[in-house]
Amino acid sequence: MCAGCGAELTAPVSRVALPVHTHYGAWEQLHPPLMEPATYAVDPLPSGARWRPSDEAGEDLDARQGVHAPARSVPFGARGRIVIAPGDSRDMVLIPEKCAGYCRGIDGRDGPNLACGGCGSAVATRLDDCGLWQAVWLEPDAVRRVPSGLPAVPTPDWDELDLESYAVPPVELDGSWSFRWEAAVPVALAHLVAACEGRPVALPGPVADLLGDGATGYLPAGPPALTARLAGPGMPAPRSTDDVLLVPRHPVTGEPWRPPHGTAAVAPLDIGVWAHFALPGETSPLPASGRVPEGVLRDDYPLPLRPWRSFMPHSTAFSRTLVRLPAIRRPALRAYRERFATPP
Ligand SMILES: [Zn+2]
Repeated sequence: MCAGCGAELTAPVSRVALPVHTHYGAWEQLHPPLMEPATYAVDPLPSGARWRPSDEAGEDLDARQGVHAPARSVPFGARGRIVIAPGDSRDMVLIPEKCAGYCRGIDGRDGPNLACGGCGSAVATRLDDCGLWQAVWLEPDAVRRVPSGLPAVPTPDWDELDLESYAVPPVELDGSWSFRWEAAVPVALAHLVAACEGRPVALPGPVADLLGDGATGYLPAGPPALTARLAGPGMPAPRSTDDVLLVPRHPVTGEPWRPPHGTAAVAPLDIGVWAHFALPGETSPLPASGRVPEGVLRDDYPLPLRPWRSFMPHSTAFSRTLVRLPAIRRPALRAYRERFATPP
């Protein structure tokens, strides 16, 4: 609710993990809402309209803002901003003079553009321009969290989740790559590079086959010294010889799945991408030759969708994730950092 007047500003919502693709949309494309209905997430890092050049702030201040390598700009907006689906907002009105955007909507460049309908305080920012996941971002100082009166639902354990329901197809019906995949894969690659401390690593076969050079081109060059393997709930237990495990992030807590034993490093992957690879579901039988007999209705499987171009990771998602990992400061990653951590 509004911290100023107590007006109810959202429908009842429960907390889930901040999606990894939150700040990374596809260039000049309209996007669906970031959040599922009746959910909210919190961004622990500074975000929003205020940015400063990296060298203006200084290295220590950059690190406190969550940036650990040279970056073109460092965010200085509020920490702990709260994101909801636009459809879950209540009793807020647009502030017309704050509604600038690039071309097809509002991009929030002037700060909060939604006012509380009760008292007129600026409380939130609506984003819906092209290149942005549609969202309403509530300012943490302008709102208060109050119990909805609905019974609290405990956080499900890994074995209580319907994992297959989280899978996100990599290719849309029109043959374009999923925007979520184009952002989530480079975020995971940045974590993988840090987990491997800059050593060349081979991706699991199905991942390398689907994503091709577009993904492997971001990894340290050279003959693979390490092997990454998919691991997680419902999969065979990791082997003691595994080097790095690609594991899902919990959809509610955002925490990476951890193997019950072993010391392999883990690189977290968006559960939507992980579930596609790890739980392929029902597979099509081989197509039969000849014709279907007269009077028999076809019930065979549609062919899997094929993308119309090769996979292109969201480069800003990669470099921004990389500079936000404290591990990027390690000497072992210096050569890699100088080549790949292009200032976002
Ligand atoms: Zn108010």
